[in-house]
Amino acid sequence: MSGAPKDAEARRAVKPVICYPVDTLPQPDMALLDDARHSLRKIDEVTVPPRDARTFQVPAGHFFRITSVEGPQVGDLNLWNAKDLSERFYSGKTRALHGTHITTGERMWSSFPGLRPMATITQDTLGWYGIDTFGGSVHDVIGTRCDPYTHNLLKGGQYHHCCHSNLTRALASHLGVPADQAETHVHDVLNVFMCTGFTRDTGQYFMKASPVRPGDYLEFFAEIDLLGALSACPGGDCSAEHSSDVAACHPLLVEVFAPEEGALTGWEPPSVNGYDRTHGL
Ligand SMILES: [Zn+2]
Repeated sequence: MSGAPKDAEARRAVKPVICYPVDTLPQPDMALLDDARHSLRKIDEVTVPPRDARTFQVPAGHFFRITSVEGPQVGDLNLWNAKDLSERFYSGKTRALHGTHITTGERMWSSFPGLRPMATITQDTLGWYGIDTFGGSVHDVIGTRCDPYTHNLLKGGQYHHCCHSNLTRALASHLGVPADQAETHVHDVLNVFMCTGFTRDTGQYFMKASPVRPGDYLEFFAEIDLLGALSACPGGDCSAEHSSDVAACHPLLVEVFAPEEGALTGWEPPSVNGYDRTHGL
């Protein structure tokens, strides 16, 4: 190719280094959480209808579980600090720290200036999937959320049941505010149960049928008081297309659990990030 230097191959052969080695990352006490999850008591549940979204609340120190029911279905998850919606899930930084997909022991990190764990994954019944030969894996933090703007850009038309709109409606209803006010709080998601990757030849974002089966679940420990919103994506299992009413879609179940009294002795909610925010001024 023109413009390539003589040592192009040597430059390409330079070995990569991990951007953020995580050996100094504060680790969750998985033994404590694992003990605590054996004595859980369900305190709430919400069924998310297909092509729609619902909000739910999880106090710090509680657990929540997203379960596939009835049929294979992908969910788009937003999380906020229940006391301050400006602190919300930071998909990009979570990806930088943990990689493209997250599983048991990994965490959903919050936006600046908080940059602290919001939720820790305590169980993942799809943990067996690993990384397939296409480079695909489950529960990604690489996609954003299907939205009516990209749909309009690529195909035209007005589709109102993309995850972005579903999350907007659910949050608007929870807060009692108009859609445009709620929309500013909607952010890039954790794609629960979605099987995705980047093609090796063109580097494009791909999806494929989710391996999720009814009964599979992803379970989290709430590190801070959380407001969550989950959309049952119009893509269903995301095997063909999204942003339309074509795919078969199913509900998703969200359950909230309280641990037994004293089960979390020694655990404390994480404090906000320690950077002093003066930025050199
Ligand atoms: Zn979606």
